[in-house]
Amino acid sequence: MTPKQFQKAVLTWYDRHGRKDLPWQRDITPYRVWVSEIMLQQTQVNAVIPYYERFMASFPTLEHLATAPLDDVLAHWSGLGYYARARNLHKCAQTLINDYAGEFPRNVEALAGLPGIGRSTAGAIASISMGLRAPILDGNVKRVLARFHAIEGWPGRTAVANQLWQLAETYTLEQRGAHYTQAMMDLGATVCTRSNPRCSDCPLSGHCTGLAQGNPQDYPGKKPKREKPVRNATLLLLEHNGEIYLEQRPPSGIWGGLWSPPQLDGDNGGETGARQWLADHNLRPEEIQALPQLRHTFTHFHLDITPLWIQLAKAPQLVAESGGGWYKLRQLNRPRAAQELGLPAPIVKLAQQLLALQAPLLAPCTAD
Ligand code: SF4
Repeated sequence: MTPKQFQKAVLTWYDRHGRKDLPWQRDITPYRVWVSEIMLQQTQVNAVIPYYERFMASFPTLEHLATAPLDDVLAHWSGLGYYARARNLHKCAQTLINDYAGEFPRNVEALAGLPGIGRSTAGAIASISMGLRAPILDGNVKRVLARFHAIEGWPGRTAVANQLWQLAETYTLEQRGAHYTQAMMDLGATVCTRSNPRCSDCPLSGHCTGLAQGNPQDYPGKKPKREKPVRNATLLLLEHNGEIYLEQRPPSGIWGGLWSPPQLDGDNGGETGARQWLADHNLRPEEIQALPQLRHTFTHFHLDITPLWIQLAKAPQLVAESGGGWYKLRQLNRPRAAQELGLPAPIVKLAQQLLALQAPLLAPCTAD
């Protein structure tokens, strides 16, 4: 199959079956395409759509995003995961306003140099919103090309990635580049899917090496397995009169910029660590109770969380010291609390547990 035949097959398929009504396919601008591409990294289209619409309603332009408080941006991201994406989005918006007069540069290299924008995302912005000829190689496109050409090896290895980029470059079109880019992403997402490729519906099936070999699922090669390390943390659920204390986490690190109870890491935690922490802050607990441990898995490690429910007789002065605040447990238990307050998902879960334990003791909540 020549590159021309490949392109024609993909575009003909796109004209009939491609997705053309996604929110970011309307009123196309570099800004709208950029936000969608960042949200779609590691996240499925259906999960992204409501987040995208809320985000655009709150930050309709680059200026709105650049001037918004980071907290506000993170709150809109809460639940999507991979929060570095949101922090980079905010930082990139400010860079574009300050250094590029509020315009996206019209070349792939400059785009790829901006915070949080890699080579593939730069290609997508350039081809979809600027009509430039620019290859992309997101997860979907990698899968289609690796299967079609039976490229061995894990794409995280430079040699394999280079091979795939070379192929992506070969097939990328001058004309209808935006449609071709969208078509390849759609083909990977809806036909050449990770575990059950629908080869009988694929416009490339007549020439696909992976299919001819009978093992398309073996491509692309998997990342060599390494056991994820396990880290431990103790969360101090300080509670007074139906309210829980939360403080903002540092901007980098896990759940960066979100709100959570004070955390003690590794050997500094447990009940002994908690008692020491309380003594250091001049706090006297009425009771300390360990709640069931929970595991939260990040990309590179598991975090085993030991939550300690610490009931305080008096409201302490922690707020002024650390910029934290007291939140009604019922407030954290509302359907969209995670998004509105910028809370990591496990903290919402813990608040729900605590509320269930507390239910008989709490007075009705009158104010949020
Ligand atoms: S024929 Fe099957 S394996 Fe090959 S590209 Fe199409 S869907 Fe993927």
